[in-house]
Amino acid sequence: MPPSDLTEHAQHVMSSEKAAVSRALNLVEDRRPGSQAEVAQLLAALKDAPKAAAGHRVGLTGPPGVGKSTLTSALARRLRQHGRTVGIVAVDPSSVRSGGSLLGDRARMSFDPSDSGLFVRSLATAGEVGGLAYAANSAVRVLAAAYDMVVVETTGVGQSEIDIVHVVDTVVLVIQPGSGDVLQFLKAGIMEIPDILVVNKADHEELARRAVADLHGALRTAHAVGADSGQDADWEPPIVATSATAGTGIDALIEALDRHRQHLESTLSARRRQGEVHWALDLFGRKHGEHGISTLGGRDGLKARAERDLDRGATPLSLCEDLSRDYVAALGQNP
Ligand code: GDP
Repeated sequence: MPPSDLTEHAQHVMSSEKAAVSRALNLVEDRRPGSQAEVAQLLAALKDAPKAAAGHRVGLTGPPGVGKSTLTSALARRLRQHGRTVGIVAVDPSSVRSGGSLLGDRARMSFDPSDSGLFVRSLATAGEVGGLAYAANSAVRVLAAAYDMVVVETTGVGQSEIDIVHVVDTVVLVIQPGSGDVLQFLKAGIMEIPDILVVNKADHEELARRAVADLHGALRTAHAVGADSGQDADWEPPIVATSATAGTGIDALIEALDRHRQHLESTLSARRRQGEVHWALDLFGRKHGEHGISTLGGRDGLKARAERDLDRGATPLSLCEDLSRDYVAALGQNP
């Protein structure tokens, strides 16, 4: 697509036109080099989208079966009732294995297809190493240009393939009562990641009460052992009990999300900038490995350069291209 068409495409995305958003995500899914170059140009054109700056990027994560998909539907419906627009993307490691997307799952969500303020899509990630991170990062930037709230739904926590904390503003960890998840997360150090904890299926009242109590205990322990873990010390992750099927606790979840977005106001651009640095260096590292990183001056040097270049208007994808070019040039000088 010529650059002028891409600029026009970006305008349509920023006007929240579903067909344009859908086309942009098709490009993200298509990993051929030509499409990747178009994604890079498109994201550059969407970089300063007004909606993106004001919006909220939320990651919803947790083990399979806890009700993330059902909860995302309930959340989206309630947000639409409040007049807020929502873009949802599901990225799932299992789609790597099957090579297919999760449209089957998505079909369970019953939404009004004519609603222009709601966009739902699963992304297949083609099984490539780094495909999940590329898809999630790119999709979030497309959707953030078009909708007030972006929800990235991802299964499993702590997988190295996609570090959701670098992709979104707010991480929501969903668990279900009576599953022993709390103990496992605690062991894996995952209690330090979420900004909001949700105990879904709270219609199982007694179990849910116990799970909430366990979580409070786990949070205290995580706080005690990980006080300097880099987590936001001024934010105590709220624990919200929901029933996605009965529709209870959804307003409390929205309130917790809004409160966290508010809390981030002064640090949000720095947080997003760190996410961009992480993505650019992650992409470059996957392409060229430790040799690439050390050839260009090591991780710290590259980080400093990434921050400088992003400040000057680069995007993570254009930066990764620049770094690759420099690496190849350096190899030419010192083969
Ligand atoms: P995901 O794999 O985490 O996305 O989970 P799903 O949204 O697919 O839900 C898994 C199952 O749990 C489905 O059968 C849902 O109907 C059910 N479920 C989801 N939320 C609730 C809830 O709040 N209460 C109960 N009882 N069941 C729920």
